[in-house]
Amino acid sequence: MKKHFLFVLLPILGQAQIPYFQQEVHYRIDVTLDDSLHQIQGRWEMDYVNHSPDTLSYILIHLWANAFQDRSSAFARQKLRQNSLEFHFAPDSRRGGYRDLAFAAAGKPLLWEPWEGHTDIIRLMLPEPLAPKRQITLNTPFTLQIPASFSRLGHVGQSYQMTQWYPKPAVYDRAGWHPMPYLEWGEYYSEFGSFDVRLTLPENYVVGATGRLESPEEADFLRQKAAATEAYLNDPDRSPHHDPAFTLGTFPPSSAAMKTIRYTADNVHDFAWFADKRFRVQKGQVVQPSGAVTDTWVMFTDEEEELWKDALGYVNRAVAFYSTLVGEYPYPHATAVQSALSAGGGMEYPMITVIGLSGNAQGLDEVITHEVGHNWFYGVLGFNERDHAWMDEGINSYYDHRYSRRYYPGSSLDSYVPAFLQGGSKLEAGEAAYLYLARQNRDQSPATTSDGFDVINYFIQSYEKPAFVLRYLEQYLGREAFDAAMQAFYREWQFRHPAPADFRDFLIRKSGKNLDWLFEGFIYSKQRQDYTIRNARRVGEELEVEMVNRGRIAGPVQLAALSGDTQTLWSTWLEGFTGVQTIRIPAGPYRQLVLDPGHYTLDFQRRNNAMRMNGWLRKTAPLRPGIWPTLENTSFTQFFFQPAISWNAYDGLQFGLWVHNTTIPGPRLSYNFLPFYAFGSRTLTGNASFRYRWLPLSGPWRVIEGHLNGKQYGYKKNEIHDYRLSYRRVAPSVRLVFRDGESRMSQHTLTGGMAWVDQQAPQFDESGIYEGKTKTTTHIQTAVYEGRNNNPLQPSRWRLAWERSALPGLSQATAFHKGSLTFQIAPAYQQDKRLYFRFFAGAFLDKNPSRKGLSLLPNAWSLSGQGFADYRFEESFFGRSQQEGLWSQQIHLQEGGMKFATGPAQRLGRSNNWILALNAHADLPFRFPLPLPVQAYFDLGYNGSQKGQTAIPLEKPLLWSGGLSLTAFSQRIGLFFPVVSSQNIRQTYAQNGASYWNKITFTLDLARLNLQNALEELDVRR
Ligand SMILES: [Zn+2]
Repeated sequence: MKKHFLFVLLPILGQAQIPYFQQEVHYRIDVTLDDSLHQIQGRWEMDYVNHSPDTLSYILIHLWANAFQDRSSAFARQKLRQNSLEFHFAPDSRRGGYRDLAFAAAGKPLLWEPWEGHTDIIRLMLPEPLAPKRQITLNTPFTLQIPASFSRLGHVGQSYQMTQWYPKPAVYDRAGWHPMPYLEWGEYYSEFGSFDVRLTLPENYVVGATGRLESPEEADFLRQKAAATEAYLNDPDRSPHHDPAFTLGTFPPSSAAMKTIRYTADNVHDFAWFADKRFRVQKGQVVQPSGAVTDTWVMFTDEEEELWKDALGYVNRAVAFYSTLVGEYPYPHATAVQSALSAGGGMEYPMITVIGLSGNAQGLDEVITHEVGHNWFYGVLGFNERDHAWMDEGINSYYDHRYSRRYYPGSSLDSYVPAFLQGGSKLEAGEAAYLYLARQNRDQSPATTSDGFDVINYFIQSYEKPAFVLRYLEQYLGREAFDAAMQAFYREWQFRHPAPADFRDFLIRKSGKNLDWLFEGFIYSKQRQDYTIRNARRVGEELEVEMVNRGRIAGPVQLAALSGDTQTLWSTWLEGFTGVQTIRIPAGPYRQLVLDPGHYTLDFQRRNNAMRMNGWLRKTAPLRPGIWPTLENTSFTQFFFQPAISWNAYDGLQFGLWVHNTTIPGPRLSYNFLPFYAFGSRTLTGNASFRYRWLPLSGPWRVIEGHLNGKQYGYKKNEIHDYRLSYRRVAPSVRLVFRDGESRMSQHTLTGGMAWVDQQAPQFDESGIYEGKTKTTTHIQTAVYEGRNNNPLQPSRWRLAWERSALPGLSQATAFHKGSLTFQIAPAYQQDKRLYFRFFAGAFLDKNPSRKGLSLLPNAWSLSGQGFADYRFEESFFGRSQQEGLWSQQIHLQEGGMKFATGPAQRLGRSNNWILALNAHADLPFRFPLPLPVQAYFDLGYNGSQKGQTAIPLEKPLLWSGGLSLTAFSQRIGLFFPVVSSQNIRQTYAQNGASYWNKITFTLDLARLNLQNALEELDVRR
């Protein structure tokens, strides 16, 4: 483990060898907005000062606006990975980028070329090498076609979000050049310097920007706007309305007269501006601890006006909060603008933050506070966010969570989880989010680069986990010591680029503590910490407590002795350890011992953190029943029960109870019991399932699951002889999930299982008189490999299955072997429209002579998944043996996947040899007149019964049918209305005397709509 840590830390620690330096840039930009063409035109000039010890022959320049030019940019590819097809299918008129760039220095044109194939990074060749301590001035004219709002830079009608809008050099630091294409998830790293920016635009635009406003007329204009806003908000007759203009775009006409506004800024690494003719304006002030005054502004449209009328107070409070806790705000103003943003809820730029729609007051306050807080952790401390997103997002989230705890006490999870799902859980939001992924082994280390995260990990590992472990550190060091260390770090590194090692070394030096558990453990690895109390016994006047850390991170932990549930009689912080540790503490009238009573550590299984001093099952928390699955509440052994109802044609109405232990995050051993009493058959029916999960941190498997499923129901009824037959199925299996790539674009699983199906069968004497039931057993072994590619343009799945089945009545030695391949692909043909194709091939792999007899085998292939063909008794059917009526019209979309249900009497589409099928369905290319999930489908099947091998030449081997469907949840629920079909299907229905209504089929795949799976598949991608 140590070796592993050393390995990951080497590149970071390596930087410390070269003395710190940073480059210096000074921009002069002068542009004019043409709001009819959505273009800006002007000039860009930049002084570049080389403070590095190296001579530079070129400068890497970011042209981030070019990310919106076409589908080839890293941004376009990232959007696809995030399952967003909007930009991919956008017309050219909505895209944008630079025109007419012509870089020059001292009147001489410069050469440049795309850097490593990126459209938004160039290598600009300098006219002569730039030696250390020398500077060069570069300039270019430019026209920027502003794209529609796909991410950050963009416009919605005549509302402009001008961010990442000018050419900007990549950072050159101790580690060399840091070129980075524009990305939506994956923020930035830029050189500090100064800006002198002139904006020319129609007079009636209101502009919010980075920098000190240097135009007195514009200052007057803003004061008038603020006075008008104040009068408007105080008007008793004001009727707040939600003007859809914010998103749809109706704008007052632009003045013919133009104005030029000038801004200057120092010690910043970016410049953004927002222009909108509809902005209302409020202005305030914050007095800094030193007595300096900071102006505060908010600018907003009528959309969410009722929330924004209080927003100035949030900006003021946030500026004061961070100034006091971290260090004084160094810039002349702090501004929040409400504008279109297609990347998250808010985005920070120096002095100015842009906020999208918020929904409620607390949400708006928290987003504003987070974005304002970035002025400290991003603005003043210029981290490399692309490579170390945890630094700015994690440290900033630690502070904004502290703000929320102060101003919205007791609401850690309120904004995320409705009360009835909280279940009295003491989980913190960040802890719950971390455990949700970690208990599925889907978490990534926070030190992953931004582009290496999947979306859900980006949020949890960059924001929540580091914020949580910094609070852990705060509790361990004490708040005063922690604050002092952070303030000193802020002072030492302001307007510079601290690397992770700088932060780590600083905290270690300041605290004098070993912080391996924090950095090497929680930040640079996904190792676990899992303390548990194993035993406690009285030894004289002392209590000997034996504890175990089952994880490999040895973080400090608080041990407390409580008199009841909460009252602490004794407690202490223990230094971290791995393995077993025994300590002695003073004995006392304790009721229980608890590790980490305050929920400050990131404990993997908190349920084992407590032990009662008396009674039975001292380590098992008391039982607590509930109705709804909730967040994990580790003070109790939780289980949930609900009345349940079921029905099938053989057992009739069934009443029962659904008992399970599903929580979020999920337990290691989960169970589901669904026992019923069947009023029709007067028997006990039902399902039971168990799952145990191992989560290896290394090796080929990410998850190993053991499953045990069982069920028992009726499957056939005979009115003449008055008997009912039932089956019982027991199926253990092992599921192995491959350790998938970091981007989660694919997933592979291998499942091996067995099933024993005990089936009752009727027994008749020689004259055909019913004598009673016998029992037969089918034994099935399966191995299935499944793969999935999540490329959203054409997601695909494949499944390779092998089966050995030993059927009753045939000797074990002559068991059957079957193999099948399923391939599915769903190409998108528009942003939200797809075609879906499925291919299936299945064949018997043995030479078993019983396949060549006259009769159809029970395990024959089936082009349509009707109830009687489910010889594995794997699926649920309302009437699995029904020959006619509504219940015979239920199908499962497996094997041939065709939608007809002609019943068991006809052998249509069944084969003792092999079958082939192609199923297609499609979203309609036009809007269906009713709000229904209508799709068109067409199926083609081939029944490979060969002459001379089988006596089932009952129909022509080719079958086809098509029609319209109503489906939901990826066809797990569906209704199929056939419109056309092949002659053999038509004839078979005609022989059955079927009406059109008898030909409509339905599917209801309850087994795959299960709650546990649904809760684990939560993913921002989907
Ligand atoms: Zn942020």
